[in-house]
Amino acid sequence: MSAVRQDLSSISRILVATDFSTQAELALQWAVRMRDAFDARLVLLHVIDIFSLAELSCRAVGGDPLLPVLRQEAKESMQSWEAKIGDGEALIREGSPRPVIVEAAVELECQMIVMGTHGRSGISHLLLGSVAEYVVRHSKVPVFTVRLPV
Ligand code: AMP
Repeated sequence: MSAVRQDLSSISRILVATDFSTQAELALQWAVRMRDAFDARLVLLHVIDIFSLAELSCRAVGGDPLLPVLRQEAKESMQSWEAKIGDGEALIREGSPRPVIVEAAVELECQMIVMGTHGRSGISHLLLGSVAEYVVRHSKVPVFTVRLPV
């Protein structure tokens, strides 16, 4: 057996990245089971993609009139997600979701990330990219991805 081991008892904080989609909802269900198994705490994170918004509206970053609406929507969605997990933490950040998720895991001292994935393939993967794929490639901590059954 390899000498490389991970101390699983050190998993005390699990980051759950959410875009409030059905995939992320399923990922949350897994995260709740893992939280209980590891006796850990959940940290919910949603990132408002201000760069895509600026690109779409051709306005300066942060200058889109839609931004306050998105902030309010995110706040309300997060409140209802927070209610689902009971004792935990919830954060909303602004930036580019991919790197923000990766950096937040380290900064918030989470030892694991749980997230959904659409598992896109072919052209839609090329066009839309995959948040989960980026996070898996760049994360310093293990990433558990959950895909909806077809
Ligand atoms: P993918 O389908 O591979 O692009 O990954 C989608 C998953 O990435 C979602 O289920 C969420 O877990 C996560 N995700 C996507 N966008 C965001 C966001 N803006 N904030 C937080 N997590 C996100």
